[in-house]
Amino acid sequence: MIKQKHVALVAHDKMKKDMVEWVSWNKAVLSQHKLVCTGTTGRLIQDVLIQEKNSLTYKDFEVVRLKSGPLGGDQQLGAMIAEGKIDILIFFWDPMQPQPHDVDVKALLRIAVLYNLPTASNRASADFLISSPLFEKDYDFKTKDYTDYIRRTLENI
Ligand code: PGA
Repeated sequence: MIKQKHVALVAHDKMKKDMVEWVSWNKAVLSQHKLVCTGTTGRLIQDVLIQEKNSLTYKDFEVVRLKSGPLGGDQQLGAMIAEGKIDILIFFWDPMQPQPHDVDVKALLRIAVLYNLPTASNRASADFLISSPLFEKDYDFKTKDYTDYIRRTLENI
């Protein structure tokens, strides 16, 4: 039986076309999971899936739309990762354009690494992730134990 995952999808403006194409290409697999998107990325994904829905037979997509990334959506997603509510992050960030919310982007990527979250940053790595057998299986995320770090911090205050 498939283990349903919470898949976060985020794309910077110049990468949104790539994301929409990737989602469209992988809709059969993604329709088995819950999608969590930043605002504008989510809107475009919903639009493309609605357009395609009439001609296809797959179960309805569940898309949660957060705020737009620059308006706090990246931070909302980071908080969800810290709370263990996201299993996979597909984040097509733009390597060629500075973003007004660069600090939020950096924070999101940092928290994803901190929590050992499977993360893809372009179409090739997203293809590798979605075609992994682990994508649909139960997976025990091993995160580092930071108890010592917290204890030492408290001792040094
Ligand atoms: P957006 O946000 O989907 O609302 O455009 C993406 C981002 O984090 O830059």
